[in-house]
Amino acid sequence: MEKEIVVQKFGGSSVANIDRIKNVAQRVVAYKNKHTDLAVVVSALGDTTDELEALALQLSKTPPEREMDMLLSTGEQISCALLAIAIKELGYDSISFTGSQVGIKTDKSHTKARIITIDGKRIKKAFKDDKIVIVAGYQGVTRNDEITTLGRGGSDLTAVALAQALKARVCEIYTDVDGIYTTDPRIVKEARKIKSITFEEMLEMASLGAQVMQARSIEVAKRFNIPLHVRSSFSKEEGTMIVKENEKMEEVAVRGITCNKNEAKITICSVPDKPGIAAKIFEEISKQDINVDTIVQNVPHDKLSDISFTVLKGDLHKAIKAASVIGSKIGAGEILEDKNIARVSLVGSGMRSHSGIAARMFSTLADNQINIGMISTSEISVSCIISQDVADKAVKALHKAFKLEQP
Ligand code: ASP
Ligand code: MG
Repeated sequence: MEKEIVVQKFGGSSVANIDRIKNVAQRVVAYKNKHTDLAVVVSALGDTTDELEALALQLSKTPPEREMDMLLSTGEQISCALLAIAIKELGYDSISFTGSQVGIKTDKSHTKARIITIDGKRIKKAFKDDKIVIVAGYQGVTRNDEITTLGRGGSDLTAVALAQALKARVCEIYTDVDGIYTTDPRIVKEARKIKSITFEEMLEMASLGAQVMQARSIEVAKRFNIPLHVRSSFSKEEGTMIVKENEKMEEVAVRGITCNKNEAKITICSVPDKPGIAAKIFEEISKQDINVDTIVQNVPHDKLSDISFTVLKGDLHKAIKAASVIGSKIGAGEILEDKNIARVSLVGSGMRSHSGIAARMFSTLADNQINIGMISTSEISVSCIISQDVADKAVKALHKAFKLEQP
């Protein structure tokens, strides 16, 4: 009988200290049997990556990226070795490898490298000897033997890419929450764990603010159709499956609600209403490498209109500067900023076949005296920008209106 392969990934909080590493070791060996080979990917212990980064920043404001990769990749090298030791102690054979040892080849972009190929030979060989393989997440190596890292949260990507290379049946992502919820349970106590969600919905929710998995890793899982199982490392319960869309899943119009308080709004007032002006503004902004989200242009009065757009709070300063530069070039008026905004979004691939979702969202907000500042939509989502002070209230009301507490 051909053995099946399963990839498991344990995040930083799951291996934060010795007791938790022992817990992971126990879970891993409980899963292992004659018919299953396990490749286990680990993140660095707890906040190790942040701590290592902070050390470097004490020495330089702009540490060389190559050296940052040398430094940050050590976090995962520690956790994979410790886990292998813990597993051996339980009487199972295990071996740990760095990314470079298992042939995770990447491009040369230090601190945000992309995986090009994975040579699974060394892992397969260890499987033949019935070893549990532990792989350091978040890292790879270039063709010239330079160590690289895959961007923050990159152990997810290591796990998904390994699952693809090894043709694993499933890729299990163990974390400190027990799955994907209809919305943040800290905001809505009736929030419900979702049984299964599509790759697309998960990607949309991640880009709209849900922070469960690294977005790039979900893209890769979608491209290669690798089922993901997001679950807790502290309980035996099933979590949430992230899978390819099937007909049954379309019956639900709204799968979840996200709330992102990480954006700010910029308004350029009294912009001359002429062709080419919007292009000029957003060319200048994008030159600064700033991602602009929702854009709204008001109906012009006296050949002048206001243009508002949102950016990540971290980019606000840069964006205001760029807006001022272009504003004075084109003879616009004041530049206003508003940090007190939130983006509340409904997500669901069933929106393609259900109508009236946006209308119901707007009337629910209206019934709750919540003013909508901006609106944007995609094929499978509707977002409203509202005041941050009423964001939680909005999420609660929408969760109820769309009956998300009911399975
Ligand atoms: N340790 C890295 C980070 O904290 C990678 C990961 O956890 O996935 O970003
Ligand atoms: Mg981490």
